[in-house]
Amino acid sequence: MTSDTFTIRSIEAFCYRYPLATPVVTSFGKMLNRPAVFIRAVDEDGVEGWGEAWSNFPAPGAEHRTRLVNEVLAPGLVGRKFDGPGQAFEILTKGTAVLALQCGEPGPFAQAIAGIDLALWDLCARRRRLPLWRLLGGHASAIKVYASGINPGGAAQTAEAALKRGHRALKLKVGFGGETDLANLAALRAIVGTGMLAADANQGWSMEQALEILPRLGRFDLRWLEEPIRADRPREEWRSVRASAGMPIAAGENISSVDDFREVLAEVVLGVVQPDIAKWGGLSKCADLAREILASDKTFCPHYLGGGIGLLASAHLLAGIGGDGWLEVDANDNPLRDLFCGPVANVREGTIQLNHNPGLGIVPDLSNIERYRSI
Ligand SMILES: [Mg+2]
Repeated sequence: MTSDTFTIRSIEAFCYRYPLATPVVTSFGKMLNRPAVFIRAVDEDGVEGWGEAWSNFPAPGAEHRTRLVNEVLAPGLVGRKFDGPGQAFEILTKGTAVLALQCGEPGPFAQAIAGIDLALWDLCARRRRLPLWRLLGGHASAIKVYASGINPGGAAQTAEAALKRGHRALKLKVGFGGETDLANLAALRAIVGTGMLAADANQGWSMEQALEILPRLGRFDLRWLEEPIRADRPREEWRSVRASAGMPIAAGENISSVDDFREVLAEVVLGVVQPDIAKWGGLSKCADLAREILASDKTFCPHYLGGGIGLLASAHLLAGIGGDGWLEVDANDNPLRDLFCGPVANVREGTIQLNHNPGLGIVPDLSNIERYRSI
C-alpha cells in the first residue's frame, strides 16, 4: 500500500454553536450565534484528518450539514479504499448529484462534501508526514492576512482592536446606507493609515445603487470592493459596475462550479477571486482553481468566515499556492475559531506563519468546546 492510498474507517461530523453577545451583521442577515461543523476522518491505519463545512446561513443550517455528513455521505465512504482525496470527492459529488437536485439542496451537499474533502487532505498530508502547505506545493510558510467581518456598528473599535492584535489590513462590511458606509470607511482609512482597506457589500446593492455610490468610494483607496451586486446578476451588470469602479472588484464565495469560475476568470470584471474551500470544492477543486486564478493574472484571496479548522486549511491553501493575496481572518469574537486555527491566531505585522508539523499542523481537542456542542 502506498502512503497515498487509504481506506476510510470512519467519518464523523460534530456541530457546535457559540452564543454571541454582539450579533455579526451583514447586509443580508444577522448571526446571533456562531456555528461550526467540524469533521473527523480516520483511516484503517488510525491516521486522523480534520475538516470543516461552511454552515453560517440559514441560522438553523449547521445541524443539517452535520446530519448530511453523518447520515448521508459518510456511510458511502466507510470501508472504501481511495487513491487520494480527489477520488473520494468525485465519488461523493457524482454519487449524490441527483439526490442533491431532488432535495433542491446542491449548496448544503457541496458544503458537506467540501468539509469531508478538507479532512481527507489533512489525513493524506499526515500520512505523508508533510505540512499541508508543502503537500500543496508551497515554498514559504508566511502569508498576509486581513481582519474581516467588521460590523457597521462599532467599526472603529473593532478595527483598532484588530490592529492591536497585529493586523495591518482591514475589510469593512458596507451596504447599510451611504451615510453609515462612508463614515465607517473614513474612520477605518484613518485607523489603518496606508495599510490595506477593502469593503464588502455582501450582494447588497442593485446595479443602480452600486453605480450611485461608486464615485463616492474613490477617496478611500480601496484594495477591492466585494460583491457589490448579487452574484447571480447578469454579467453585463457586473461589467457596468466594473467600468465605473476605480478599484478592483472581488467575488467568489458565491460561485460554486469550475465552469462558473472559468467564466469570471476569462473576463476582466474581477481583479480579486475568492473561492471558499469549506463552501464548495474543498481542496480537491480549489487548489487547481487557485492556480488558474494566478495564471489569469488575478489576485487569489481565500474567502473564509467560520471556525478554526477551515480557516487553518485556507491558510495552508494560500501558502501552498502562493501569490500576493491575503487570507480573510474574521475579527469577531469566536472561540470556535481561535481555539482551532493554530498559528493563524498569532498575527504579527499583518502576517502569520504556518508551522512544519504534518497536515494542518494541529490536533484539535474538542473536549474544550463540549459545552457548545449542539449535535
Ligand atoms: Mg464577502
